[in-house]
Amino acid sequence: MDLGIKGRTAIVNAASKGLGKASAMALGREGVNLVISARTVETLEAAAEEIRQETGANVTIVVADVSTVEGREAILAVCPDPDILVNNCGGPPPGDFRDWTRDDWISALDSNMLATIEMIKATIDGMIERGFGRVVNITSSSVKAPIAILGLSNGARGGLTGFIAGLAREVVQHNVIINNLLPGMFATDRLLAPMRATAEANDQSLDEVSKNFTAQIPAGRFGNPDEFGAMCAFLCSQYVGYMAGQNVLMDGGQINVTM
Ligand code: NAP
Repeated sequence: MDLGIKGRTAIVNAASKGLGKASAMALGREGVNLVISARTVETLEAAAEEIRQETGANVTIVVADVSTVEGREAILAVCPDPDILVNNCGGPPPGDFRDWTRDDWISALDSNMLATIEMIKATIDGMIERGFGRVVNITSSSVKAPIAILGLSNGARGGLTGFIAGLAREVVQHNVIINNLLPGMFATDRLLAPMRATAEANDQSLDEVSKNFTAQIPAGRFGNPDEFGAMCAFLCSQYVGYMAGQNVLMDGGQINVTM
């Protein structure tokens, strides 16, 4: 299926690994020109080269922390007028809310709410003028089913989800389409780290921990980042012009909800 976005330009943030990289790869396969960001130059360069080799796409890298003003300015200096914007950032740490300071909350809001809002603010009027825009915000299944120890994430992503619900309906008339993509458990570094910690804490093998985790998922397995990337690319396609502000869950059936 041709997604109808060949020759478009996309910014994909936090894209040197995991779900961001898989999203960039899938867009690259569609002939989209890519600007990808992350904070670590080595992994970002390696990801860009892998995407070029596999897809032939034009890939420009920007070493930047998207949660900061300077980082976003650096990304937007390279690509001020993207047709497609995939917002992503690292997730906040788990913990007990009694231990979190105001600075911890500000940091979570900067990473998982305000970075996305600021990137949209800087690019959406150009999308409206050109009559085409696609924005996908990578959030989490915890938006639908909050996880207590991830309170910083629940709070920041919940705020973002509310904001997007309003904005998406305001701009859909201009063929500017904003949706959120909600991962459940995908096999990335973000998931492997807590699995390793659980294995060490309980003196279990990684295999045992993996079995316990996947036992909670009706699909019986973790998600493959390529599946996520393909869905992200579809949400950036010409075919989603009649969608607005949806929270698209990819979780192998784990979250038991009808909406
Ligand atoms: P990952 O494999 O750990 O990759 C994270 C990527 O983000 C890396 O490229 C990292 O590169 C980059 N990054 C982190 N902080 C950044 C920043 N401030 N500015 C720019 N780049 C940054 O993580 P993932 O699994 O793909 O997760 C992506 C998002 O989905 C996270 O917010 C995560 O919480 C959420 N999520 C993931 C899952 C899952 O199962 N994987 C489930 C629910 C939600 P640098 O470190 O070099 O910057």
